[in-house]
Amino acid sequence: MIEDIKQKVTLNNGSAMPVFGLGVWKSQAGSETENAVSWALEAGYIHIDTAALYKNEESVGKAVRESGIQREDLFITTKVWNTDQGYESTLKAFDDSLGKLRMDYADLYLIHWPKGDLSVETWKALEEIHSQGRTKAIGVSNFMVSHLEQFLPHCHVKPAVNQVEFHPYLQLRELQSFCRTNGIQLEAWAPIMKGHVSEVKELIEIGEKYGKTPAQVTIRWELQLGVITIPKSVRQHRINENADVFDFELSDADMEVIASLEKNSRFGMDPYNFDF
Ligand code: NDP
Repeated sequence: MIEDIKQKVTLNNGSAMPVFGLGVWKSQAGSETENAVSWALEAGYIHIDTAALYKNEESVGKAVRESGIQREDLFITTKVWNTDQGYESTLKAFDDSLGKLRMDYADLYLIHWPKGDLSVETWKALEEIHSQGRTKAIGVSNFMVSHLEQFLPHCHVKPAVNQVEFHPYLQLRELQSFCRTNGIQLEAWAPIMKGHVSEVKELIEIGEKYGKTPAQVTIRWELQLGVITIPKSVRQHRINENADVFDFELSDADMEVIASLEKNSRFGMDPYNFDF
């Protein structure tokens, strides 16, 4: 039973990652991101997911510093963007990210999108950064099964995490199973379908039984599946709402109803067909 917003899973390298966090994609740099992160930390969140692409690492770092919470009590993820992939450019991109965050280390550094052979070079840089202790864990994002099959033989350090679009309409069962077998922790982006879970009749009906919103039902479903989830909001009431998921347990029957919503349907780009 997952009963605590600060609950962690142990990754394949032995480090611990909170199962729940705040996403900040599309949170504007400056007061919007600073407020979102501050409200989240006040609500008990200990995990923030940013990326160089989001251009708000400075704001994340500022809010973290101003919270007064010890750095080691928080978990900060950032990511190398596609145009920085490659060995030397990734080393530099990581320095830039840490500089913007004004932190000595990241908890998790991810390759944001798979870029074929170039990502193998990028990974060597991540392994180097990891060996220096400047990130506690390294991983990938948007890697589907065939990407991982091609990539893993080149890795000295196995990715600890794979962050992918994942929600009731995109359950990626083959990838879930592949990651489980290979000790790679799955993490969901767009976990509440960019807000569209609120329109799904079955999620509304399940929520009514537990006194929870469709977003809360969906976040809880992900947690019970063992998938790390990082819903984004810049509104305090939703940041609080999304975190209010640790006092109920979905029944097996309700988990099945949500499983039946699978449509293989995306709200973001397809990792097999993107042009950035
Ligand atoms: P989410 O599924 O988290 O949805 C965010 C949207 O839902 C926002 O528009 C938000 O609006 C709205 N929302 C938030 N809470 C609620 C609620 N309780 N009820 C209804 N609507 C709500 O999508 P994201 O794409 O933001 O994914 C989450 C995080 O994953 C990102 O922020 C980012 O950190 C990461 N990500 C990673 C990607 C990758 O390639 N690795 C790609 C995309 C995202 P508002 O802010 O106005 O509340």
